[in-house]
Amino acid sequence: MRLANFIDGKFVAPRSGAYFEDVNPATAETIAEIPDSDRRDVDDAVRAAKRAFSSWSGLRAEERSRVLLRLADLIEQNLESLARLESEDNGKPVALARRMDIPRAVANFRFFATAILHGSSEAHVTDSVALNYTLRQPVGVAGLISPWNLPLYLLSWKIAPAIAAGNTCVAKPSELTPLTANRLAELSLEAGLPAGVMNIVHGYGAKAGAALCEHPDVPLISFTGGTVTGGKVAAAAAPLFKKLSLELGGKNPNVIFADADLDDAIATSIQSSFANQGEICLCGSRMFVERSIYDTFVARFVEATARLRIGDPTDETTEVGALISAAHLAKVSGYVDLARSEGGTVACGGDRIEHRGFFLQPTVITGLGCDTRVLQEEIFGPVVTITPFEDEAEAIAFANSTRYGLSATVWTRDLQRAHRVAAALDVGTVWVNCWLLRDLRVPFGGVKDSGVGREGGSDSLHFFTEAKNVCVKL
Ligand code: NAD
Repeated sequence: MRLANFIDGKFVAPRSGAYFEDVNPATAETIAEIPDSDRRDVDDAVRAAKRAFSSWSGLRAEERSRVLLRLADLIEQNLESLARLESEDNGKPVALARRMDIPRAVANFRFFATAILHGSSEAHVTDSVALNYTLRQPVGVAGLISPWNLPLYLLSWKIAPAIAAGNTCVAKPSELTPLTANRLAELSLEAGLPAGVMNIVHGYGAKAGAALCEHPDVPLISFTGGTVTGGKVAAAAAPLFKKLSLELGGKNPNVIFADADLDDAIATSIQSSFANQGEICLCGSRMFVERSIYDTFVARFVEATARLRIGDPTDETTEVGALISAAHLAKVSGYVDLARSEGGTVACGGDRIEHRGFFLQPTVITGLGCDTRVLQEEIFGPVVTITPFEDEAEAIAFANSTRYGLSATVWTRDLQRAHRVAAALDVGTVWVNCWLLRDLRVPFGGVKDSGVGREGGSDSLHFFTEAKNVCVKL
């Protein structure tokens, strides 16, 4: 299969005529050729998006909503084939793509398609002198850049609010997982999305992604990806004063107090550690367990980890699939070696699986302190650490001891402690006695090196619009 860019409602070859390979991580086989797009393709896409802006933003919200709802229906009707594509492209179990990734893409389009029908705006009366009201207007051409770990899930999390709010967009999906974005383009034609409203340019980040960030006619960038890349995006966008949302890396703590429901804490922590091979920005990779239950917890957690079924993502019973690439496998397993050299114990897993694909056993590491690199750096794979803590203050200090601040999970039956600890954690999201329970209305984003800005619900709609105050003298 040879992919094409989707520009102005048409599938077009990259200007360079060059392509690179898309590899199935579970088999190491090439499954598609991806356009190696450059500045010229981005420029074509931005021009198409600019042309489409005035008619799309001029539609009534209800008309835009109807198109997006049709697109959501089409994604849902194609759920099975999209789940297979996502699994083939990313290495994740097809059962997970069917349960999580694709339904969430449907939900993203439905949510924002209907949210725009129920918006409200502010008004401020200045004594009897003037009436101020706020207009929220679409910004123009939105530049949307997404990663490989939840390809359609995160791409649609950007495209849906951007175009629902009346913008047009140029999206640059990850070069490692372009297949479902390509299918989305086909479905958008079927849904009747006007040409130029959603453009998709494939290619490398440093080339196509950077060109989008530097483009003077793209006033807004929504980026999800690594922290180092986020810095480059911010540097490119700053001199042009672009609106910027950065959803970046995480090193999320999972704090388990002795009074927690241990069965629930262990079962859910297995998910939060190893779902999607640990390649979810919200996975909890640093577990902190109260000393009095530490030995029991480690023994039970290791036993549950060893029972996970790892292997062929197309097998319905597989729970852990392949890592995204050979390079990423080398990086993640390098952290297992580093853990040993930093004095840690590999309590479970740690080995690659002999296979042409990129598989690593789910891995549990103990015996490391918070100041080690393994507890400081994002690994983004099926590798977690467990560290004991003495009391609440120490748990909070350990949890807050990295440069990241995306999310945290707290396990306790003590209601007051739950609120206290949640308030003290330096993160954008805290889950108490649960994980990855996502309500699309809530603010989502990180603090510190995990990002800038919030998306989700009205935060997304505010980000994808510009507020204008109109002051009318009374
Ligand atoms: P990445 O930063 O390598 O790439 C993300 C996207 O940016 C890709 O589309 C890539 O092509 C593009 N890109 C790369 N260099 C660029 C540049 N110079 N200019 C513009 N675009 C560029 O990230 P990744 O490896 O694809 O994804 C994994 C990372 O994403 C992890 O750090 C993970 O924590 C993070 N992530 C964060 C969230 C969140 O919501 N905070 C969600 C998912 C993933």
